[in-house]
Amino acid sequence: MQQGPLQGWMMSVYQSTLLGRTEVAEGTMAFQFEKPKDFVFKAGQYIDLTLFGSQPGLQNGMTHTFSIASSPCDERLLVTTRMRNTVFKRTLSALPIGSPARIEGPMGSFSLHNNTAKPAVFLAGGIGIAPFLSILSYATGQKLRHSMILFYANRHLEDAAFIHSLWNLECANPRFRFVPILTRIANNNGAWKGKTGHISSEMLVARVGRLAGPIYYIAGPPTMVAATRRTLSEVGVDEDDIRTEEFAGY
Ligand SMILES: Cc1cc2nc3c(=O)[nH]c(=O)nc-3n(C[C@H](O)[C@H](O)[C@H](O)COP(=O)(O)OP(=O)(O)OC[C@H]3O[C@@H](n4cnc5c(N)ncnc54)[C@H](O)[C@@H]3O)c2cc1C
Repeated sequence: MQQGPLQGWMMSVYQSTLLGRTEVAEGTMAFQFEKPKDFVFKAGQYIDLTLFGSQPGLQNGMTHTFSIASSPCDERLLVTTRMRNTVFKRTLSALPIGSPARIEGPMGSFSLHNNTAKPAVFLAGGIGIAPFLSILSYATGQKLRHSMILFYANRHLEDAAFIHSLWNLECANPRFRFVPILTRIANNNGAWKGKTGHISSEMLVARVGRLAGPIYYIAGPPTMVAATRRTLSEVGVDEDDIRTEEFAGY
């Protein structure tokens, strides 16, 4: 075991196994891995996942970083990703159930603050939903008293991973409000009755009310994180109240 790079969190290397895979949106898969005994993490943290393959160059493994999408209370570790035609994702999608994998972590400090008097505003872009699903599942299961609101932006409804789980969490947790947003609504045949456009200051004012006070969490591709951070700065949110997780590589 070694000292983690962030905040002295204990990080270690574990062996795991692929247990299953599910499609959670168009072109988006979730992968269930065995949670190694003694693997303890905080909702919102991430891991380095190493896969092994028989192709040249893969015998020593290939590593990508993933936020854990499951709650620390769940039996399995869940990670989710947009499937693209890259070596890592081709290997992951073809990996037989039962294949070994290596997990390093947990890492990161993108976790819910302790002060339950301060609301949490979660701002997710696409697959950036992963750490929020973990946090919301955990907070709901543990009946944490934080007031939470999630703005979840996707291009199209078909791209919105875990949308049913998130509606279910809203039903189960009276302190949680869910605001899905579509940034491109063409081809939805008028079926979409929710918000459209990018996460804007008007949307925040309308749904959050008093913007000073909550802690803001942004997760998604770097461009989305930067744009949302600018929006928060423009409406006067204090830098100290903004926490971000950039999914570098998108
Ligand atoms: C803290 C953290 C959490 C993440 N969580 C998730 C998650 O839950 N789900 C998910 O799908 N992805 C997550 N990512 C991103 C993930 O690690 C991959 O980078 C991403 O999925 C792209 O992989 P790929 O195989 O499609 O592309 P790749 O073949 O890996 O790369 C595509 C392009 O991005 C560049 N690139 C790749 N990685 C990086 C990097 N780290 N920094 C800068 N440029 C890079 C490559 O050079 C290439 O041009 C996370 C990243 C970080 C840092």
